Amino acid sequence: MNFYHSSVKRINMRSAVQIIQDIPIIDNLLKVICRTTGMGFAAIAYVTPEQWLACAVRDEIAFGLVPGDELKIETTLCNEVMDGRVTVVIDHVAQDQKYACHHTPAMYGFQSYISAPIIMNDGKYFGTLCAIDPKPARLNNPETIGMFELYAQLIAFHLSAEEQVLVSGALLANERRAVDRQTSLTEELTSTNEQLNITNEKLIETNKRLAAVNDQLKAANHRIEEREVALRLAIDAAQFGTWFIHSVTREFITDARLKELFGYLPEEDLSIEQALGQITDEYREYVAHKLEEAIYHNGDYDVIYPVIGKKDGILRWLRAIGNLKSDPTGAFSAFTGVVMDITQQKQAADTLQSAYEQLRLSKEAAQLGFFDMDLKKGTMEWDTRCRELFGISHDLPVTFENDFVIGLHQEDRERIITIINDAFVKSIGNGVYDVEYRTIATGNGQLRWVRAKGQVYFDQGDHPVRFIGSVLDITEQKLDQLRKNDFIAMASHELKTPITSLSGFLQLLNKKAKKTGDEFAVSAYTRMGTQVKKMVGLIEGFLDLSRLDAGKIHLDLQRFSLNELVLEVADLANALYPSHEVVILSPASTMQLTADRNKIEQVLSNLISNAVKYSPMGRVVKVEMAEGENEIVVNVKDEGMGISSENLMNIFERYYRVETSYTENIAGFGIGLHLCSEIVKRHNGKIWAESELGMGSTFYFSIPQHL
Ligand code: ADP
Repeated sequence: MNFYHSSVKRINMRSAVQIIQDIPIIDNLLKVICRTTGMGFAAIAYVTPEQWLACAVRDEIAFGLVPGDELKIETTLCNEVMDGRVTVVIDHVAQDQKYACHHTPAMYGFQSYISAPIIMNDGKYFGTLCAIDPKPARLNNPETIGMFELYAQLIAFHLSAEEQVLVSGALLANERRAVDRQTSLTEELTSTNEQLNITNEKLIETNKRLAAVNDQLKAANHRIEEREVALRLAIDAAQFGTWFIHSVTREFITDARLKELFGYLPEEDLSIEQALGQITDEYREYVAHKLEEAIYHNGDYDVIYPVIGKKDGILRWLRAIGNLKSDPTGAFSAFTGVVMDITQQKQAADTLQSAYEQLRLSKEAAQLGFFDMDLKKGTMEWDTRCRELFGISHDLPVTFENDFVIGLHQEDRERIITIINDAFVKSIGNGVYDVEYRTIATGNGQLRWVRAKGQVYFDQGDHPVRFIGSVLDITEQKLDQLRKNDFIAMASHELKTPITSLSGFLQLLNKKAKKTGDEFAVSAYTRMGTQVKKMVGLIEGFLDLSRLDAGKIHLDLQRFSLNELVLEVADLANALYPSHEVVILSPASTMQLTADRNKIEQVLSNLISNAVKYSPMGRVVKVEMAEGENEIVVNVKDEGMGISSENLMNIFERYYRVETSYTENIAGFGIGLHLCSEIVKRHNGKIWAESELGMGSTFYFSIPQHL
């Protein structure tokens, strides 16, 4: 209803004249009124409490009013009609008690007057239908009044209809506008909808991205959680103590492990001051200073210090690492960190340091040189001493070909390169490298003897990746050895003739004593003969060595039965060493061998005599033969003292003897096994030993069946 009242055009002062004028019957109606009543002026007026407006006029008396003219309301009688909503009729003003003195008739000069209210269908007051005349008239009768009121009603009906039309039009217009608005709204809505659709799609897209981001966030969160768990586990596993210094309260919050590291019980309070109190005197100030620095100057906090536990009195080396957290203004907000017990590492590091120091000192004392080859990169590093041993004067990086190979003595070159190549094959020697060679300095041609020991390291595919080792100048020892060898060779040579003649004379004396029946002399000569034989054996050994050095050992190859040879040697040994029993573990078949019979005999008797020498009386020595695919393997097993693994590696070296209280009293020069190994090597065979201290040893040698 509000809408109706406010927006629909109703009849008003501006539209009233036009509306009345538009009623087709108006002029006729006013004309009929004037005719039937005899009045000279008739009008339809729009009347409100403020105004009187002439809408239609029939003026036959030259009253002078035209449609659109206004009168002041108070000058008219129409307000009375309006107020009372009744028809006012004056037949003759002069004779009318009420209006004779009324200002309106006087003002407008009329004697007769009739005015009926025009009341619209909705009860609204429009105005009046009135008529005046300067002469009196007969109006106050039911017919005239009835006619007047009927006309007024007719006008009201028209007006109502008109207004209805207006209202309907307005409503229609409103409706149309509403429809238009609806249409444009619909259009707007459609385009808005389209935009909405686009926006929606974008939204869906964005949502998807958001969902993806969300998923990532969740995953990241999950990872963070996992990491936190992992971190906690790591902290627990690593037995770290954790601490936290509150920025405002400066409260020192620690876990039980940290307290334990400072020798406190889990339920005890531990302040920073108390913690500092457990740090040893020399370190306390330093740690306190570091802590202050870290907090106030945002410095790094990573300190190592010793602590004496409060309760347990244990000295622990701790490493504390802290992390300062600043708030957005950069101010210290919290200081957190971990403490770990590094006592063992510290001790290990100290031991390592002193080991390094010792190594450095021994390296210096022994004048050891070091080399390191990176076989993947193809680079080689030599320290100063190593360079010295090769007489290298340049500072450039060294290379295998230009420095190592060139620096080797010509006679050693091929042998050493073969050994190195073999060392690079894991299956051959497991990367072990232990050689002696000569170097010739590039500058002055100086000759040096060098002992090199090293190890080749392999990757998972058994490819050599690194070769590290040390070199030692053994020139002096080597020259000494050469001199010793020369001396021994000379002495042995000189001793051989007198001892041979001594042996001959002893045999003669023995025969003579047997003839005379001098039993004491026979026994004495026999013992002397045994000793002289031993001396001859030793001298033979030395002579063999010198022959070896001079390259004078030649193999006299022949085909022979190994079984027979072993039997011979065993029989002889049993005769020579009645204190032990030499047993042959009979082979399944007879084994034929092509080799130097005498030299193989020498090897066998050497191994058997050692087995006897190095095992207590009454023990058994077993000799066993076995046939491989292309070789024959012989082993001599004893139940003697055994050899430790470190000695086992060296026993085939010349003059090497195991120094123990037990071996002290056993005669020997450490040349027997060396000779054995040289003989076997010359037969392209191998010699080795297995042993366990106190349990006995087994010596093996293998000879290819066909040389
Ligand atoms: P030696 O003349 O000293 O016996 P060898 O060259 O024959 O010289 O032996 C070298 C060293 O090896 C010996 O000094 C000894 O310590 C050790 N050895 C050799 N054979 C045996 C064995 N069967 N049992 C224990 N040790 C042995």
